[in-house]
Amino acid sequence: MEHYDYILTGGGAAGLSLAMKLVNQTGFDKRILIIDRDKKTSNDRTWCFWSADQNPYPDITFRTWDKLNFQGIGFKKTYDIQPYRYYMIRAVDFYEHARQILTGKPEVTFIQSTVNKVEDGKSFVVVSVDGNEYSADWVFDSLFDPNNFIPQPDRYHYLNQHFRGWEIETEFDAFDPQCPTLFDFRTPQNGCMRFIYILPFSTRQAMVEYTLFSEELLSPQAYDQGLHDYIEKVMQIREYKIHMVENGVIPMTDHPFPRRLGRRILAIGTKGGRVKPSTGYAFLRIQNDSKSIVNSIKNFGHPYNIPKGPTRYQLFDSIMLQVMKRNGWRMSSIFTDLFRKNPIHSIFKFLDEENPLFADLKILASLPFPPFVSALIRLKLLKKL
Ligand SMILES: Cc1cc2nc3c(=O)[nH]c(=O)nc-3n(C[C@H](O)[C@H](O)[C@H](O)COP(=O)(O)OP(=O)(O)OC[C@H]3O[C@@H](n4cnc5c(N)ncnc54)[C@H](O)[C@@H]3O)c2cc1C
Repeated sequence: MEHYDYILTGGGAAGLSLAMKLVNQTGFDKRILIIDRDKKTSNDRTWCFWSADQNPYPDITFRTWDKLNFQGIGFKKTYDIQPYRYYMIRAVDFYEHARQILTGKPEVTFIQSTVNKVEDGKSFVVVSVDGNEYSADWVFDSLFDPNNFIPQPDRYHYLNQHFRGWEIETEFDAFDPQCPTLFDFRTPQNGCMRFIYILPFSTRQAMVEYTLFSEELLSPQAYDQGLHDYIEKVMQIREYKIHMVENGVIPMTDHPFPRRLGRRILAIGTKGGRVKPSTGYAFLRIQNDSKSIVNSIKNFGHPYNIPKGPTRYQLFDSIMLQVMKRNGWRMSSIFTDLFRKNPIHSIFKFLDEENPLFADLKILASLPFPPFVSALIRLKLLKKL
């Protein structure tokens, strides 16, 4: 059985980000095995995130914007978000970048295969891969399978952020390439939160995404209809070509994701609960997590000393999920209040879990009382408090 210092089961966003951080340390001489069943050569998603700090991947950033649009109910605003910037990275560029950094290193091995089992042990972990076994001192596991997830609906919330995006090209100028639209609620809500998200690449090219926060997914035709109606009826665009389609489902849940899966196994990425339950954003959280894991290994000899963040945000996420679940039809007006009454930087910090408490309370006080009070009462009933 071949032995490694670290095995990364899953070489997607979390596995590759952590591998790059590990090998980036001066004098790094550990052996790493990265196992993924996929070749990771297709553009299977795009990652966007806001940040006021340095962009972690300047060489592969596809677009950077300093402004964002919000279109709510009777309220519209373009925000200058500086010192924040909104970044977009295409997955295919990220995978290629990671491969370039990692394949050049003699200590890194890639295997394209399916992981069947990860078995914890006292002194090492055994990973079974299509009939072969490998051992490691530490395993970082990002193999999240929603089918292996046993929901507890009496205690937690289970929504999805689900979407379909069309990368379109129009006959005439239709987009402001300087300004993505974070939310446009001019689409029928039909009982749950639905909005359009636009990433403009030029005056005639953009990714237009029909996005929902709800429990049930839609049929493929329903996503297409939502996009079609918005582009033709709201944007008044009749002539356009669809160059690419992106589909996605991101779990939005307050179900606990244990980080420590054994003596020597750490869950990372979606499996490690890095997706923010109330927004579905994860990419920057994964980058910060990778940094914390590397620091923990360096300073403590194990990867478990990673910061948890203020606990109040778990409660805020649960409240938001409860409000979204019960009040889907009024989320457009709740989000309109959020953006109308609060500075954009404070909203970012709230969502990044970095605000001082009084700033968070100010945000909560700007939102309509009844759905949030009844969410709190219901959470108590769900034994969350
Ligand atoms: C379409 C889409 C768009 C998103 N956009 C954003 C965004 O704009 N901003 C943001 O912050 N977040 C976004 N997210 C959320 C989050 O950032 C991503 O899901 C991110 O890829 C999660 O990283 P991960 O490593 O946990 O999972 P993944 O990147 O999915 O990596 C898991 C890897 O495990 C491999 N694998 C699974 N099972 C096995 C097995 N049994 N054996 C071997 N390999 C296996 C898979 O092939 C995959 O490569 C998006 C998610 C999706 C789905």
